[in-house]
Amino acid sequence: MIKAIRGMRDLLPPETSRWQWVEQVAREVFGLYGYREIRLPLLERTELFARSIGADTDIVGKEMYTFPDRKGDSLTLRPEATASVLRAVLENGLDKGAGVKKLYTLGPMFRYERPQKGRYRQFYQINCEAFGVDAPELDAEVILLLLDILTRLKLGEMRLLINSLGCPDCQVKFKAAMGLFLISREGLCEDCQRRRDTNPLRVLDCKSVHCKEILKDAPVIRDYLCPDCTAHFARVLAWLKRFGVAYEEQPKLVRGLDYYTRTAFEVVAAGLGAQDAVAGGGRYNGLSQALGGPLLPAIGFAIGEDRLLEVLPKDLGQENQFKVFLAALGEAARDRAFHLLQELRQRRVAAEMDLEGRSLKAQMTQADRSGATYAVIIGDRELEQGEALVRPMRAFSYKKGEGPKLTELPSGRIVENQERVALKDLTALLAARARE
Ligand code: ATP
Ligand code: MG
Repeated sequence: MIKAIRGMRDLLPPETSRWQWVEQVAREVFGLYGYREIRLPLLERTELFARSIGADTDIVGKEMYTFPDRKGDSLTLRPEATASVLRAVLENGLDKGAGVKKLYTLGPMFRYERPQKGRYRQFYQINCEAFGVDAPELDAEVILLLLDILTRLKLGEMRLLINSLGCPDCQVKFKAAMGLFLISREGLCEDCQRRRDTNPLRVLDCKSVHCKEILKDAPVIRDYLCPDCTAHFARVLAWLKRFGVAYEEQPKLVRGLDYYTRTAFEVVAAGLGAQDAVAGGGRYNGLSQALGGPLLPAIGFAIGEDRLLEVLPKDLGQENQFKVFLAALGEAARDRAFHLLQELRQRRVAAEMDLEGRSLKAQMTQADRSGATYAVIIGDRELEQGEALVRPMRAFSYKKGEGPKLTELPSGRIVENQERVALKDLTALLAARARE
């Protein structure tokens, strides 16, 4: 048997219903903040990521799915969305005109990482990108938007970690100081020894416990921020405070991509173990120019959907659609049921029936398994009388304030809460119930 590729999961029902719920909430909140959706190709020229993310990053260094196409052009499955969004913005002139431009996108990303809990090779992100405005108010608004989504999704314990990475001027000074600090340190991992020479800021992103230990008394970027960057950061924090947002300043927080400037943040959640970041983001004012575009201030974030779903309450976003299952006995009843089935669907009621002429017992089992709210039973006798038996299958379909009702079946058996409904009224009645 052929199996899925390592680190690439199938997302199956009913779990997919939770994914839909998360995405629907995210779309709603994006709408409230004035964002519109952009959909992009999964494949881009390798150069796009190499130029934007940075050669010394883990992503470009070892995590990209890169291959030549049939013509020999080097293509890469997108490891993240920001570079693609910016490419599309510049290519389509979406950056033109004054004011902020707001875009969001949902979809899979690909990174060749070691698969483990919360880490996959195909994973999903919800991305937010805002362009054209450098005001700290936008930084605050983007963070509020992120927290708004996570709060509406009932994410329990979460912490907002925040830092400023400064502008390129601040970063030059900081990298020099960091380089000096690292020269005298022994035992850095191989990657960090290389980064010491190429981009000492990247050392802060190392996951090795030993390197982290060495970095304990390393210089922090905050001490190298220019007055403008200091003021910008202070204003972002002041706005967060005014909105009652609890944040934790994290002087060593950097992002895994080189293009970040100024505000950088992460949201970590309890219950995820080592992979505890559910979202990360920040400003990337320099990215547009790095891609050959104009100066275009920008800020955004990415929510890791896989990890988010891992920690969200499991009872939220479950399937709870109003559904009807038609159980018909005998050929004439089945023919009638097929018509009723389509009529229900025309009335926007989800409905199913058995197509194989199985026994009533088998059909009721199927009705139960399908998660039906009501089962409708039509046998030859019901057909003759122009009626159907409507049986509630789920507790929540009992009408408010009404206890169980007893009905006698044609067989003489007494069942709870079953009604006899005229076939001519059946679909209208169920459609009305579905809207209750
Ligand atoms: P990490 O430090 O965990 O590797 P990152 O800094 O590489 O994360 P970003 O590039 O900032 O992650 O991506 C934003 C979010 O996407 C992360 O916070 C995380 O929730 C999610 N994410 C990143 N890589 C993966 C992965 N391989 N599998 C699942 N989710 C991921
Ligand atoms: Mg990573």
